[in-house]
Amino acid sequence: MTYTFHAKETVSLLKQLVEIPSPSGFTKEIMDFMENILKQLQVDYIRTNKGALIATIKGADETKHRLLTAHTDTLGAMVKEVKGSGRLKLTMVGGFNWNAVEGEYCTIHTADGKKIRGTILMHQTTVHVYKNASGLPRDEQNIEVRIDEKVLTAEDTRKLGVEVGDFVSFDPRFEETETGFIKSRHLDDKASTALLLQLIKIIQDTKVTLPHTTHFYISNNEEIGYGGNSNVPAETVEYLAVDMGAIGDGQSSDEYTVSICAKDSSGPYHYELTRQLVELAKKENIDYKLDIYPYYGSDASAAIRAGYDVKHALLGPGIEASHAYERTHIDSLENTAKLLYSYVFAKMS
Ligand SMILES: [Zn+2]
Repeated sequence: MTYTFHAKETVSLLKQLVEIPSPSGFTKEIMDFMENILKQLQVDYIRTNKGALIATIKGADETKHRLLTAHTDTLGAMVKEVKGSGRLKLTMVGGFNWNAVEGEYCTIHTADGKKIRGTILMHQTTVHVYKNASGLPRDEQNIEVRIDEKVLTAEDTRKLGVEVGDFVSFDPRFEETETGFIKSRHLDDKASTALLLQLIKIIQDTKVTLPHTTHFYISNNEEIGYGGNSNVPAETVEYLAVDMGAIGDGQSSDEYTVSICAKDSSGPYHYELTRQLVELAKKENIDYKLDIYPYYGSDASAAIRAGYDVKHALLGPGIEASHAYERTHIDSLENTAKLLYSYVFAKMS
């Protein structure tokens, strides 16, 4: 396999991606950014009504297609209520625990395009006033946004243009360490999105014909369950979701290898396709882990649920502390990139 992983390029693209706010439902800016990149790469694509992008590269076999997907939407929140104090109550977009965003800086995106800064805090944060705050539940009632504007009443806040239904994005706090770690929110699934873009670039640069026509589906509704479950081209035989590997007690995934998922909450992934991925990894000396994700669904399982007749599989970089302050290592990105490369250049079995 003649493949070189461009670590610097991949990480700088990933940084750009995580820094564009894109909670599910508020993805126009990131999808415009993605569309621009696809244009530069001179690849054919369509934009769906739901806002996803599907890029297509013709292969030698145009009758049996492959589809690879990653998602650009992330966790976030929406203004649920403007409180009498001028502060905001939030409702979650996507699934996370409130403690994962407590203390985080955020941006409120108003309908007229203003970006107002704030901090997500427990209402009872000040220790000099609230004695038993540490034991209080982190929930919709107690969590609020302190706006960085002189507001004392709901009216003051509304005058800024802030209203119920405005999206709120969390600061990613991207950091790359000298030891090779990448720490940031939203590595799920912008790490895989960066890898897919890099893969498209390599294919376009080398001008080598793929064995099968291959689609790259950049979805924008995964965190709310229906990202890649529409517009799957009829010739698609294999559907590969590229999304994070889940790390924790009892899990085999880690931050250094590519994680191949055998089963998640939706049930087992397609056995033969999963085996093919494992065999490819072995053949190319790619460090991989086979794993089962206990609380997880992907765009591949969403496509199956929607009724698509495809063989589905899931792989991706191992992401530590998912849906919170996430972290992965450059080794995991490299192993994932290598497996993706050898997969798109392999014949369908
Ligand atoms: Zn994801």
